[in-house]
Amino acid sequence: MPFIIFALLTLTCARASDHDLQHLPKPFAFRDSKAVFADFEEALYEVTYDINTRQAVAKTQIRFLTIEAGYPVFDSVKDPTTLSLDGKPVTASLTRTPGQETSVRVIERLTAPGMHQLDLTLPLTDLVEFRQDGVKSAFWTSDLEERRFLERYLPANLEFDQVKMTLILRFKGLTSEQTLYTNGVVHRFDAQTYEIRYPSHFTSSSIFFHTAPKGLYPELRFGLRSIDGRELPVVLYTNGGVFSSSLERLKDRVTSVISELERDYGPFPHPSITVYLAGAGGMEYCGATMTDMSAVGHELFHSYFARGMMPANGNAGWVDEALASWRDDGYQAIGSLSGSTGMSSHPYYTRSTDRAAYSFGERFMSYLDGKTRSKGGLKPFMRHLVATRIFRPFHIEEFIGWMGEYYQASFVEDFKRYTYGTRSFESALPVRASHEIHQKLHPEMLQSLL
Ligand SMILES: [Zn+2]
Repeated sequence: MPFIIFALLTLTCARASDHDLQHLPKPFAFRDSKAVFADFEEALYEVTYDINTRQAVAKTQIRFLTIEAGYPVFDSVKDPTTLSLDGKPVTASLTRTPGQETSVRVIERLTAPGMHQLDLTLPLTDLVEFRQDGVKSAFWTSDLEERRFLERYLPANLEFDQVKMTLILRFKGLTSEQTLYTNGVVHRFDAQTYEIRYPSHFTSSSIFFHTAPKGLYPELRFGLRSIDGRELPVVLYTNGGVFSSSLERLKDRVTSVISELERDYGPFPHPSITVYLAGAGGMEYCGATMTDMSAVGHELFHSYFARGMMPANGNAGWVDEALASWRDDGYQAIGSLSGSTGMSSHPYYTRSTDRAAYSFGERFMSYLDGKTRSKGGLKPFMRHLVATRIFRPFHIEEFIGWMGEYYQASFVEDFKRYTYGTRSFESALPVRASHEIHQKLHPEMLQSLL
């Protein structure tokens, strides 16, 4: 029904989700039809931490759009305990994608294109720790393994999709106070009830969320003047012990890094800065990071590239790690490059980032910088991207096209040769320090950082 699709497209473009439809993964064969990816318009999460029974439950309501008939796709690592589509109970099957890249949940109901509502409940058990005085809980993520974004904790879409998300928190039976560290707008109803609204450009890799009993972590709050005149609220906090004396040092580091980044790439793109000094590598979020002291620059750089210029899938995810590593090593330029990788050419539904980004990816950026030296190198292009295309998830092919437009030259052959290969030459290169920045943190390790 082309007319219906056209009407739906027109309707949704008006709602500014055209980027989502542009990056909607293609359907794959499923049952008698196909599994179709959806454009989530809005997700309402209601998480109840019951302090007395020491259990946490997440109720979720998602409104989504599909543009063709099929079995709708979503994801959650945990099995839903209740699930309904458009008010009627339904089941969902955990299904491998055709190239075995990843798993998603496919709703077992053939569904007409249009707006739909998914209601589901699931237990929240990962990174939750109940205590006498409250609860510790976080939604920390990783891009080095699949299914480690928001879907690890709550029902979510793949990373391409920008979703208006609201999180309601209920601390049932709480007799003391909780502190929330997050990159959304917090509204407190009472000591037991909060609402957090996240910007509508957020994806499954954007949210920083951490709550703990009040007073548990030493913290430092201050205002940082942006080059555009805004006073950015900054929250620095740490998990105590040897780190508690480091907050003043962290303040100096954050201040100097923001000044460097604003000079290079323009005003900080987020309305606040949250840094959790946890001491085990780092991970980036929109305007926030969990990090150690050595990775502060790398992680805040990601607020521009990764959580500002957002990858829409795994094959675009290496770009920001390559750029961050290139910055970490002082923006070096080289004239030639040998080797190749398949960083851009993993199977279609790949969700995680190729680790070659940190080593070969960095050298590839050095090579591109050398190649564009006569036009100022790569940094002016990066600044241009932040100014013109921030908060629009991209595929690698778009990035290559934008680069061609900016320099009035084609880079297709360079990317093909060095990032669309089949072999990884990473092992031939020395391991770089920045490779260790995003450590693969085991669940027990993350739990210890709560
Ligand atoms: Zn990184």
